[in-house]
Amino acid sequence: MIELPGVVRTDSGRRVEAADIMIATGAAPLVPNLPGAAGALLSDDIFHLASLPESLAIVGGGYIATEFACLLHRFGVAVTMFEVGDRLIAGFDHDVADRLERALRAQGIDIRLGTRIDAIDTTRSRATLTLDDGTTTRFDDVMLAVGRRPATSGLGLAELGVAQGADGAVEVEVDAWGEASIPGIHAIGDAAGAMMLTPVAVRDGRRCIDAIRGHRPDQPEDIVPTATFTTPECGSVGLTEAEASAAGIAFEVRSKAFSMLTAVLSNDPQDVFMKAIVARKDGRLLGIHFFGPHAGEAAQMGAVALSAGLTEAELGRTMSLHPSTSEEVIGLGDPDMPIHGPAETAEALAAE
Ligand SMILES: Cc1cc2nc3c(=O)[nH]c(=O)nc-3n(C[C@H](O)[C@H](O)[C@H](O)COP(=O)(O)OP(=O)(O)OC[C@H]3O[C@@H](n4cnc5c(N)ncnc54)[C@H](O)[C@@H]3O)c2cc1C
Repeated sequence: MIELPGVVRTDSGRRVEAADIMIATGAAPLVPNLPGAAGALLSDDIFHLASLPESLAIVGGGYIATEFACLLHRFGVAVTMFEVGDRLIAGFDHDVADRLERALRAQGIDIRLGTRIDAIDTTRSRATLTLDDGTTTRFDDVMLAVGRRPATSGLGLAELGVAQGADGAVEVEVDAWGEASIPGIHAIGDAAGAMMLTPVAVRDGRRCIDAIRGHRPDQPEDIVPTATFTTPECGSVGLTEAEASAAGIAFEVRSKAFSMLTAVLSNDPQDVFMKAIVARKDGRLLGIHFFGPHAGEAAQMGAVALSAGLTEAELGRTMSLHPSTSEEVIGLGDPDMPIHGPAETAEALAAE
C-alpha cells in the first residue's frame, strides 16, 4: 500500500521510499452483486480447469466473453451466452457485431440477448441460473465476463485522499500525464481507467515516465485500434457509425461484403465485411471496421491510415496487393473498383 506520498509498504512490511510512485496494478474481473456470483468461474479460472465442462453458461457478451465462447466451443464445450444488452461486443460497429453474432450462432453457440441473470446457484455441483423472467436453466458450469474493474483496493488511496472515479468506480483520476490529484502519485493503464488494452497501458507508462523526467511533448490524437480474437475476428479503428451519428458529424458509409478469394475453392467460404466511415465535408476517413479472417491485422493497417489523417481518395491511390483481403479496403470508396471475390449482392447488403 501507499503509506504516504513517497512511501510504499509491501505485504512483508518492507518500507520503500521514492519521489514518485506509479500505480500500475491493472484490473480484475468485475463480480456483479447478485446472489451466488462468487461461485462462478472468472476468465482467469478457465486456464486452471482440470477438465472441461460439457456445458458452460457465459454471462456477458463483450470481447472476453465472445473470445472464450469461441475457444471453448472449439474444444467441444456446449456454450450458451447470456447478454443483457441487445448486441454482442457493444462498442464495435453494429454491422460488425451483428455479423459476429450470426457467425457464432451458425457455429452452434447459443446466444441469449436481452437476458439478465438474476441469481446463480453452484452449490449442487452444477450451475443453476435464474433468468430475469423467473425461469431457471442448468449447466455444468458458469463463467462471468461482465467487465473488469481497476484493481486499486487495498492501496490506501482513499485514506490518502487520492481522487478516484465517481459512481463507485475505483480508477485513479489522472491528468494527461498520469499524475493523480496528489503530487508524486501517478497511475497508468487499467488502474487509471484507460481503455483496457495493452498498448494503451504501455503508451500511458511511457508518457508518465517522460513527464516525471520533465518531458511533456505534444500528444497526438488517440487512434486506438482494437479487435476481438474470435473465430472469425472483428477489427475496428476510429468512429463507429453510431458514434459518428451521436457526434453530429455528416458522414458517408462505404461497405463491402464478399468471400475471401483465397477460400473460394474450399468448402469453407470465409465471409469478409469491411466498412468505412468517411467525413462528408472532406472525405477524411473517420473509422474503418472489419469482420472476417485477420480482421485484427486489417484494423492495425487501418490505424495507420487514420493516424495519417488520410482521405478515402488518398487511400484509394495506394497500390493494392493481390490476392489479399485487405486490398478491398483500398477501393472501398470507388464504386467502379471490382471486388476480387464473390460479393454479396447489393440487395442482401441493403436488407441488413
Ligand atoms: C482475458 C483477457 C484478454 C485480453 N485481451 C487483450 C487483447 O487481446 N489485446 C489487448 O490489448 N488487451 C487485452 N486485454 C487487456 C490487457 O490485458 C490490459 O489492458 C493490460 O494488461 C493492462 O495493463 P496494466 O499494466 O494496466 O495492468 P496488468 O497488465 O494487468 O498488470 C498489473 C500487474 O499488477 C499486479 N498487481 C496488482 N495489484 C498489485 C499490488 N497491490 N501489488 C503488486 N502488484 C500488484 C498484477 O498482478 C499484475 O501483474 C485482455 C485482458 C483480459 C483479462
